[in-house]
Amino acid sequence: HLDTRVPLVGGGELGQLSTSFNRMAQAIEASEQAQRRLVASVAHELRTPLSNLLGYLEALQDGVVPPSRELFASLHDEAQLQRRILDDLQDLTLAEAGHLTYRRVDLDLAELVESARVAHLAVAEASGVRLRTEVAGPLPFHGDQDRLRQVLGNLVTNAVRYTDAGGSVTLRAYAGNGRRILEVEDTGCGISAADLPFVFHRFWRADPARDRATGGSGLGLTIARQIVRDHGGEISVTSAVGVGSTFRVTL
Ligand code: ADP
Repeated sequence: HLDTRVPLVGGGELGQLSTSFNRMAQAIEASEQAQRRLVASVAHELRTPLSNLLGYLEALQDGVVPPSRELFASLHDEAQLQRRILDDLQDLTLAEAGHLTYRRVDLDLAELVESARVAHLAVAEASGVRLRTEVAGPLPFHGDQDRLRQVLGNLVTNAVRYTDAGGSVTLRAYAGNGRRILEVEDTGCGISAADLPFVFHRFWRADPARDRATGGSGLGLTIARQIVRDHGGEISVTSAVGVGSTFRVTL
C-alpha cells in the first residue's frame, strides 16, 4: 500500500493544493477499494455454480452417475446461472458508469404495465399465483420502453418468485402529485425490517441458498434502481414478513 498523502502546508495556495490533492487520493483509494470488493463478490458468486458444474462433470466422467436427462438439465441450469450473473454484471457496470444507452420514446406506462402482466401470466399461473392489474391510464411518459419493461419484469418476477401458491400479485399504474407511479404488490413472504435497507445492494439476497436455487443473480434490483434513476425517478419498497411486499417506482 502506497501512502500518497501530502503533508499539509499552511493555509495558503499551496495548502489548498495539498488539501485537494489529498481528497483526490482518498477518492481514488475508495474507488479502488470498491473495485476490489466487486471483483471479490463476482468471484464468490461465480464459484458456486462453477463448482456445481465441475462436480457434475467429474461424477459423469468417473462413472459415479449415469448420464441422464435430469443431469444434463442441472448442468444447463448451472451454466445458465453463470451467464445471467455475467450479463447482469455487464448491464450494471455500464449503467453505473453512465454508459447504458437509452432509446427514449413517448410511451404509455399504463400499457407497459398491462403488457408486463401478459408477459408473466404463464409463469404466475404455473406457480399458482394470481396476477392482476389496476391501471388508471393512459399515463404518457418519455422513456426507454425496453429498459422500463426490464424494471417491471424484474419486480414482477421477484413478486411471483417470493409468493406461495394461492397468493396474488397486483400491478398498478396511476398518477399522483404530478408524478407517475408504478407498483408491484405481492402477498408473499415479505422482507424483514432488518433486511429491507439491503435489497437494492448488489448481490444481496435474504436467503442466499434458497434465493440462488430460484435462479436469481442478486443483481436484478440494483440494475432496476439504476435504470429508474437514469429516468429521473426513484424506487422504494415497503414490506412486512408473512404479509407481502410493495415495490414502488415513482417517475
Ligand atoms: P435476485 O435475482 O436474487 O432475485 P434481486 O436483486 O432481484 O436478486 O433481489 C434481491 C433479494 O431481495 C432477493 O434475493 C430476495 O431475497 C429479496 N426480494 C426481492 N424481491 C422480493 C419480494 N417481492 N419478496 C420478498 N423478497 C424479495
